[in-house]
Amino acid sequence: MSEQKIKIRVPFINEETEHFWNATGEGKLLVKQCADCNEYHYYPRTICPFCMSDNTEWKESPGTGTVYTYSIMRRVPVPYCIAYVTLDEGITMMTNIIDVDLETIKIGMKVKVSFVDTGADCALPFFTAA
Ligand SMILES: [Zn+2]
Repeated sequence: MSEQKIKIRVPFINEETEHFWNATGEGKLLVKQCADCNEYHYYPRTICPFCMSDNTEWKESPGTGTVYTYSIMRRVPVPYCIAYVTLDEGITMMTNIIDVDLETIKIGMKVKVSFVDTGADCALPFFTAA
């Protein structure tokens, strides 16, 4: 778990995402894969967004990927980085890049998941340099 001085929001949890957020509290990043078309998707949904099948399964992701694009928020007391990270499974998540010198962040940089505890039995899947 990372100690980052940024504002942590407790995520909105519904029936479709409850399993995902429970797993984050155990340090696991889950993604959904469709058993019919084999596509991964994120955020987790009951219905596959590619073929509309409800035959979707939870898979544990190793949590490794690359920075697709990013933006550094500087006009705040503690600057931070918002990014889109593409996991090795091919899905892209909006997240934060933490525990790195913001000047070293680059598109295509290899990253890995780093969970930040929300204090509410779940954690935010942020990323740091791999
Ligand atoms: Zn599908």
